[in-house]
Amino acid sequence: MPVRPSRSPAVPDDPGLMPVAALHGVGPALAETLARLGLERVQDLWFHLPLRYEDRTRVSAIADLRAGERAQVAGVVEAVERGFRYRPQLKVAIGDDSRRTLVLRFFHFRRAQVEQLQPGTRLLCYGEVRHGAQGLEMVHPQYQRLAADELATVDEALSPVYPTTEGLGQKRLAAVIAKALALLPDEARLELIPPALCAEHGLGSLREALLYVHRPPPDAHLGQLTLGRHPAQQRLAFEELLTQHLSLRRMRAAVRRRRSPVFDGPDDLRRQLLAGLPFRLTAAQQRVAREVAADMSQPKPMLRLVQGDVGSGKTVVAALAALAAVASGYQVALMAPTELLAEQHLRNFRHWLEPLGVAVEWLAGKVQGRARKQALQRVLEGAPVVVGTHALMQEGVAFARLGLVIVDEQHRFGVQQRLALRDKGLEGEQVPHQLVLTATPIPRTLAMSAYADLDVSSIDELPPGRTPVQTVAVSNARRAEVIERIRVACAEGRQVYWVCTLIEESEQLRAQAAEVAHAELAAALDGGRVGLIHGRMKPREKQAVMDAFKAGALAVLVATTVIEVGVDVPNASLMVIENSERLGLAQLHQLRGRVGRGAVASNCVLLYQPPLGQLARERLQVMRETSDGFRIAEKDLELRGPGEVLGTRQTGQLSFRIADLARDAHLLPAVQQVGAHLLARHPREAERLIERWIGGAARYAHA
Ligand code: ADP
Ligand code: MG
Repeated sequence: MPVRPSRSPAVPDDPGLMPVAALHGVGPALAETLARLGLERVQDLWFHLPLRYEDRTRVSAIADLRAGERAQVAGVVEAVERGFRYRPQLKVAIGDDSRRTLVLRFFHFRRAQVEQLQPGTRLLCYGEVRHGAQGLEMVHPQYQRLAADELATVDEALSPVYPTTEGLGQKRLAAVIAKALALLPDEARLELIPPALCAEHGLGSLREALLYVHRPPPDAHLGQLTLGRHPAQQRLAFEELLTQHLSLRRMRAAVRRRRSPVFDGPDDLRRQLLAGLPFRLTAAQQRVAREVAADMSQPKPMLRLVQGDVGSGKTVVAALAALAAVASGYQVALMAPTELLAEQHLRNFRHWLEPLGVAVEWLAGKVQGRARKQALQRVLEGAPVVVGTHALMQEGVAFARLGLVIVDEQHRFGVQQRLALRDKGLEGEQVPHQLVLTATPIPRTLAMSAYADLDVSSIDELPPGRTPVQTVAVSNARRAEVIERIRVACAEGRQVYWVCTLIEESEQLRAQAAEVAHAELAAALDGGRVGLIHGRMKPREKQAVMDAFKAGALAVLVATTVIEVGVDVPNASLMVIENSERLGLAQLHQLRGRVGRGAVASNCVLLYQPPLGQLARERLQVMRETSDGFRIAEKDLELRGPGEVLGTRQTGQLSFRIADLARDAHLLPAVQQVGAHLLARHPREAERLIERWIGGAARYAHA
């Protein structure tokens, strides 16, 4: 195949590189909001892809609604009720020609809104249908009023729903994206993959693919778009996977060229730690600890992933690695994705290391002012161990001799974030060793791409004496029974997690869903000791709620999946997971790992919204049958192999915009071929691809 010369470098007037503020109607305030989403240049908007689509092309009869679906209905307000039980709420019953009633329920509303919703008013509503106390309901639907004889106008085509942030509604975001799309250059200028390669691998037009996913034509099919298998989506997924692959290869090459310190100090500290533990390491822990130590005794940078099921004891392996660095005079940074998890590590590390005379510093977002300044100073002067969140990567954190970076729950961090810490350097060409811990067993496809730059060790054995969690799946139609069961459990002094798993486009909506569940439970349990925790609360508030739950002052904790990793309350022995049918196996397993940590027998209730699809049914079945993380991971791959409606993308495993490693694994061989060719022959295009897909996100991650 003839090799074409690289095209000329980005012309200075490339519209994609213009700042978003250059678009008509984008002022400084909007530009700042967009920047929070990583959208700084026009091309960032081109590649800000929909998370899902809404179908407002028709109006459904209330009689035809099914719980669990999103639908549009038109009806007349029949009754309005304002309640004040535990918190204000507004219930509006509407009816339509199908002679059925639907309840619209609002927890946040203004008086003007109540006045607008008087009986007789006609409404067009869109929202998710669910079972409520009085039949089907919609919580916080979007709605508009219709004049008495006005026909409900429906959309011509599916509407995209974008990931967004507070203060930026879908309509406004879509309008800005439309303005950006008007500047899309012609195919030849937009395409970065050489035409011969496109032809060889059957890659269609990038320009058409972008226009299709942003503005599906009227004949587009919701089912197909939801599956992510439309050729336009596959074209974009290919390019995204290619970019990820290029960036990993580039990074790996850069790291392998560098050097790391050799840890050959005495092992007294490690021996003292082991002697002081109330348990013996399992054989698997010993093996993995040896693999890690062997890596770090070499001048090559260690890049090792330690995978081990929830509770397999990864923390102590990390502590041993840390002591190897300390004994050789180097500093260690331990980084966790959430403040809750980081604090738990801090407690463990202080408990284990301080008796050995090794100080442990704490650097998280909430360490501010003088305390922060002093901690930074000590780090600069060589404090041996520093624990924190990604605040550790921020500007202003400088280490004297950083020799080892430990990252817990890797999949929460982007590859780029890992890199940033690695560059917090040492002198000259040296980089710290890197140890990554994860409880999510890595399927092969993932290992091939996302983790391509890491060696892998497995802790494939649990410490003795754990009691497996009894798991049942229960239909949401029996919600009242489940709540009754919670009441009984609380009366027996047990503690309960209630996990809300709605996959929504913003943290705000997820928080709202949790608030709704919290109100429901508080009402059902007579307000007694029900706490709430979600990602939009301030760290201080979150900590206060966690502390109250740990101390037993709260009996029930309603939470979003923020509790997924690292929460450790041994007395909590019952977990209810709402909408469990929407989660992947890996995430269900992680969540369930929060119970079964104490001496009492534990239970997990997987609440689901019927009807269950075939895959969801099998997943829940697997969860009932086994608690072995590795078997669950294998099963996960097997089930997802043939195709899954909601991919890993929405459940937050890896931050792909459109690709789904399980669904799109068939693209990987071609991705690798095209990647190798680009790196060898078209390095400039490779750079531009990385900049296009990862550039904005990477800047965002560093913000
Ligand atoms: P994870 O791998 O999920 O991070 P942890 O490191 O938090 O697991 O360990 C879970 C619990 O098991 C902790 O309380 C820890 O002290 C304990 N533990 C770790 N290793 C062993 C062992 N070999 N025997 C008994 N308990 C252990
Ligand atoms: Mg852990």
